[in-house]
Amino acid sequence: MTPKQLFLTHQAQTTHFPLMMEMEKAEGNYLYDKAGKAYLDLISGISVSHLGHGNQRVKAAIKAQVDKHMHLMIYGEFVQNPQVMLCAELAKLLPENLNCTYLVNSGAEATDGALKLAKRVTGRAQILACKNAYHGSTHAALSLNSEEYYKQAFRPLLPGIDFIEFNNLTDVSKINEQTACIITEVIQGEAGYLPANLEFLQALRSRCNETGTLLIFDEIQSGMGKTGTLFAFEKYGIVPDILLLGKALGAGMPIGAFVSSKTNMNLLADAPILGHITTFGGHPVVAAAALAGIEELFRLNLLESVQKKEQLFRKLLIHPAICRITGTGLMLGIELDNFDNNLKVIQACMEQGLLTDWFLFANHKIRIAPPLTITFEEIEFASNVIVGQLNAVYA
Ligand code: PLP
Repeated sequence: MTPKQLFLTHQAQTTHFPLMMEMEKAEGNYLYDKAGKAYLDLISGISVSHLGHGNQRVKAAIKAQVDKHMHLMIYGEFVQNPQVMLCAELAKLLPENLNCTYLVNSGAEATDGALKLAKRVTGRAQILACKNAYHGSTHAALSLNSEEYYKQAFRPLLPGIDFIEFNNLTDVSKINEQTACIITEVIQGEAGYLPANLEFLQALRSRCNETGTLLIFDEIQSGMGKTGTLFAFEKYGIVPDILLLGKALGAGMPIGAFVSSKTNMNLLADAPILGHITTFGGHPVVAAAALAGIEELFRLNLLESVQKKEQLFRKLLIHPAICRITGTGLMLGIELDNFDNNLKVIQACMEQGLLTDWFLFANHKIRIAPPLTITFEEIEFASNVIVGQLNAVYA
């Protein structure tokens, strides 16, 4: 059987229409298929490869750590240099109350850990989330999904979950003395890159302060520089009680993290002991990659050009079929009139060597989330291809 047949036969599928592209290698801002055709990457493996592919220093850090040691012990028992250095680096980069990190293996695990922490800290059971948010696909994370379509087959899910409208100030009053936490993305990702309004985050913060509720920001997708600051919440001057990280944090390796105060985190070691455990969380090789990834983000000065790159996309992406472009930094969504046309444009772009996608809850939008290393020339190429394919589809 060919790899494609084996893929369809023996590997679990998530849709009946997978992309089925067979990539041979990836380097810089490009993926290369078996025939050697190059695809400029506008999606970064869904917001993971923010340094581009195959960063030499990240690879060197991985190789060096493999030579020292791989897995030694379950998380949180041994003092392992890459984990410790990563947690210390995050504490250095984050506000004072976010000084303690729990490393896990994925974004959904970070979500799950954060919900448990909020319950443990507050002694409360009620959880609030925003409509159209995406926090992962495990049982707990799926419970935070407001779309019944995605949940109905998997009930019962977590009880005690209610939803508020993203950016709706009136809904903020649903937070009360029974609410353990409110979780929200700072830029809603799968809803098609919709940034939070400043007033909304301010209202959440002050209502949480009034009611003793923990404010959780999910920056699994928006973190690590994609909006031009290391974390999107920095732009707003609103600090959460728990921060979720994942995706690009691992610089191409699998990781997740929930970050809070040492005082909060101490409770996970108490009543019950081992309040949250993981075997592989913060795997030394992954942690070494993450640490090197943070160093590279700053060494390459990647945050500095994000806004100019956004401006160039916005300047060049002009077409009557584009209803609007949402998002900020290098998290942009090009809104078209419907999914069918969007699919045609996306497929035509692929044929022209441009890899893009739509969004889970916004299938009429084209996803623009390239590595932060994308050059101005590549943005010109990408924009020309998109406009060219819009011309063809909407002719
Ligand atoms: N939170 C956000 C905002 C995400 O975009 C995602 C994944 O797309 C997740 C959580 C879940 O992360 P993972 O797929 O690593 O479990």
